[in-house]
Amino acid sequence: MKKFNVGIIGATGMVGQRFATLLAEHPWFNVTLLAASPRSRGKTYREALGPRWSMTQPLPEKLASLVLYDATADIAEITRQVDFVFCAVDMPKAEIRALEEAYAKAECPVISNNSAHRFTPDVPMIVPELNADHSGIIPAQRARLGTKRGFVAVKSNCSLQSYVPALFPLHAGYGVQDVLVCTYQAISGAGKTFATWPEMVDNVIPFIGGEEEKSEQEPLKIWGSIVGDEIVPAAAPRFTAQCIRVPASDGHLAAVFVRFKNKPTREQILAHWAAFSGIPQAAGLPSAPKQFLHYFAEDNLPQTRLQRDLEGGMAVSVGRLREDSQYDYKFVCLSHNTLRGAAGGAVLMAELLAYQGYLDQ
Ligand code: NAP
Repeated sequence: MKKFNVGIIGATGMVGQRFATLLAEHPWFNVTLLAASPRSRGKTYREALGPRWSMTQPLPEKLASLVLYDATADIAEITRQVDFVFCAVDMPKAEIRALEEAYAKAECPVISNNSAHRFTPDVPMIVPELNADHSGIIPAQRARLGTKRGFVAVKSNCSLQSYVPALFPLHAGYGVQDVLVCTYQAISGAGKTFATWPEMVDNVIPFIGGEEEKSEQEPLKIWGSIVGDEIVPAAAPRFTAQCIRVPASDGHLAAVFVRFKNKPTREQILAHWAAFSGIPQAAGLPSAPKQFLHYFAEDNLPQTRLQRDLEGGMAVSVGRLREDSQYDYKFVCLSHNTLRGAAGGAVLMAELLAYQGYLDQ
């Protein structure tokens, strides 16, 4: 694979910092440019971050002295210097939509963590093990934008990165019909730490704005299919969700109840989870977990703190599969929200798109 020069837009944020740590030693992607808001423009990465660096790893030395660009004002210069960008910014949705399309129209592909384009019909929303074929919509998007190379591809919301992968391999054989899910989500999902959000210590907040809608609707786009120039969301399964903020630093856990059209046995479910893999595993993409779904037989696993970093935070942990008195089965699953759920998932998506040839000149 050729080496790509890449930029991180929103480099100072929680997700941007994850990109910085994940990409510092990446075999295919070389970070040569960082950008954020006008407040950060002209400062070195170290200066712009100040005390905000929240990763357990030290700030990568080769990025610390890079001088930040303004993500909006400097688009022409940024897109001249890099092959594509990763984007995770905290801005109004309409501004993010315009910003990402401006990069794409300047022939710079955008791999986005933002929600703004998730329901744009010709923008693929890819979980690489599940719907790698949705990249097939990119030629239609390029035709709409009038670009040769530029396009936007998005990552789905972090809340669903555990339960959708667990349900996906069961759908074809048994027809997943109804899913009730309750998520227990870490504070880094709001871009916060316990230092910046002390109200979360010893507390639970039963509301995360917009999260329940995303948790119910985004899975249907992932399950959708390309029809003409758009991705048409699937009509089933039906999802209902409650999303709760809990005092964990990282890691979103989900308690799932599921009803099937044809109820599988417990052994069949476990066999599908053990066997499930996708293009990332077959192609040996650099950030792919070797085993995507790990089942834990112990009654008290998976736990947020113990399993969130499994396989570099890119694997999904599942446990407590048992029959339910109202649904067919219930189980618990967990994924790291800023790794698999955000920056790590976006890096894996970029590796997939590079492997499929969509990032070539
Ligand atoms: P965050 O920590 O608040 O960081 C926000 C970033 O946006 C900073 O780099 C900030 O730069 C930049 N920014 C703010 N206003 C800007 C502007 N006008 N122009 C350019 N850059 C601007 O947020 P985050 O948690 O990293 O989230 C970023 C995005 O990722 C959001 O869309 C969020 O929904 C999404 N996301 C987050 C997670 C998660 O687990 N945290 C998961 C999935 C998706 P300055 O430092 O210069 O202000």
